[in-house]
Amino acid sequence: MTSLNLMFDADDTLWENNVFFEEVIESVFVELERTGIHRGGLRERLDAIERENCRVYGYGCAVFQRSLEDFVADVRQAPCGAEESAWIARLCRPIRDGAIELLPGVRATLEALAARHRLFLLTKGAVDEQERKIGSSGLADLFEAIEIVVDKTADVYEAFLIRYDLDRRHTWMIGNSPRSDVLPALAAELGSVLVPHPATWSLEQDTVPPVSARFTVVERFTELVALFGEQIAEEIVEEIAEEIAEEIAEEIAAEGMT
Ligand SMILES: [Mg+2]
Repeated sequence: MTSLNLMFDADDTLWENNVFFEEVIESVFVELERTGIHRGGLRERLDAIERENCRVYGYGCAVFQRSLEDFVADVRQAPCGAEESAWIARLCRPIRDGAIELLPGVRATLEALAARHRLFLLTKGAVDEQERKIGSSGLADLFEAIEIVVDKTADVYEAFLIRYDLDRRHTWMIGNSPRSDVLPALAAELGSVLVPHPATWSLEQDTVPPVSARFTVVERFTELVALFGEQIAEEIVEEIAEEIAEEIAEEIAAEGMT
């Protein structure tokens, strides 16, 4: 039985994450509306500020909080006061301290996959925040290695393969983000499985390629058990076919010599 290397994303793949950010954004928009600011175009302005701040400062709650302050200042055309900063910090508290909500079937699916394959966790963001979530999830023991990185680029995937001596043909990245989990993994010639989450952050969206031998989409996380069962079967068939081809080639070569 061929063992695969299955790399997992964390936020919005294993547990809920972006919904909590969306709730904060909605509260900010409601407050702005209450003071007479129309919400049309606000999301685009916030996205632009977040895109720039994430590029400069990375991901996580502290950067999000900063982006909201910059956004409110931009919309109001006045710097954020201490009271407003404290209000934004209060809104963000559930993101920092809230309980982890695993997505349906995650633990059972990982346990089933761990019986056959090597599992890895690769997540991006602020180290302390990601460590807290990983610890609270109770899933850490299922992974051979866990890495928290600043961003997930093709180079980061390449470095991961080298560090753990993984054969890319037998390595798959599984996650909810086209931009972080699918496109850079495919660029590094890993396989990739998109598990879409309806609340995926707008900045993680991108166009994915058509389904192929190295890329597929599953509706639910639990479908991974069947998917990687079939994957094993296909690989065994491939290996047998290769062995037969080698035997035939050897026979032809032997016949040629007589
Ligand atoms: Mg994610």
